[in-house]
Amino acid sequence: MPLKGTSETVGVFVFQPLKKARKLDLEKESLLFSIVRQLGVSIEKHFLTKRLIETQRLKDSEELHQTLLNSISHEMRTPLTAILGAASALENDELTGGSKHVKEIAINLQASGDRLNRVIENLLDMSRLNSGVLSLKLEWHDFNDLLSVVVKKLEKPLLNHKIKINFLDSVHLVRIDYRLMEHAVSNLILNATMYTPPGTEIKINQKRNDTHFIIEVEDSGPGIPLDSVTKIFDKFYRVPGSPTGGTGLGLSIVKSIIELHKGHISLQPVVPHGARFVIELPLEDQPLVPQEKIS
Ligand code: ADP
Repeated sequence: MPLKGTSETVGVFVFQPLKKARKLDLEKESLLFSIVRQLGVSIEKHFLTKRLIETQRLKDSEELHQTLLNSISHEMRTPLTAILGAASALENDELTGGSKHVKEIAINLQASGDRLNRVIENLLDMSRLNSGVLSLKLEWHDFNDLLSVVVKKLEKPLLNHKIKINFLDSVHLVRIDYRLMEHAVSNLILNATMYTPPGTEIKINQKRNDTHFIIEVEDSGPGIPLDSVTKIFDKFYRVPGSPTGGTGLGLSIVKSIIELHKGHISLQPVVPHGARFVIELPLEDQPLVPQEKIS
């Protein structure tokens, strides 16, 4: 007899009468059915309570984790701004008497500070995305502009790479949250600078098909190993043996941002080697009249 709860079957009840016992009379049979029914419901209740406690425990620890991450990231921002300010002052020859050594230290300080800043940005955006408090500020933007701004901001990390962008001939407007999209594209370009040998090329390609606006960030580095491909967009996942310094959050943030825009991101292998991240954003009708918000 199936042990049925209110919404699922939780087991099977086997009743085996003794060999010589007579068939159960109606009254006993109905009593047995009633016991089996109640048994099913109470086993299901027991399982549900256990599951509920476990879910609540996970939710509590996740929330605590998030709150801690959030407050630590906020607290780190202020001293970091001061450190970066001081580092930039050290690059001023009048202050340092033109010492080459000091300038070198200042450049290293700046680079490490910038890197820490990006980790903090990733942590903060992750916690905003997870908490669901983040609402998109969608406005029309020209993707050519966004790419120029991102590449300008990443001037230093891109110093050792050749960057090639195919700018679209005509202005094509896309409705995006500018800050978040900038963050997503920056994460992909930065990864390409960090995980490929110096001197190699990073290509950014824009194109359109009937339904989507497509942005590809492609490099000719080692690519993503086959057994990491399915996990690469997971939170905190890093390919084993990756250089230290990352958090494994970058790609999961990119994915969340693109999905918030109702888009899709995928990874394609590059022949003979390399990684190509492909962002697809659904096309919308272009605005007819130039709006104030277009930038
Ligand atoms: P992080 O860079 O902080 O480790 P990400 O989520 O951005 O986190 O990336 C996850 C992992 O994916 C990285 O640790 C790296 O091993 C791998 N990866 C990302 N981009 C590339 C790339 N362009 N080429 C090779 N490996 C990459």
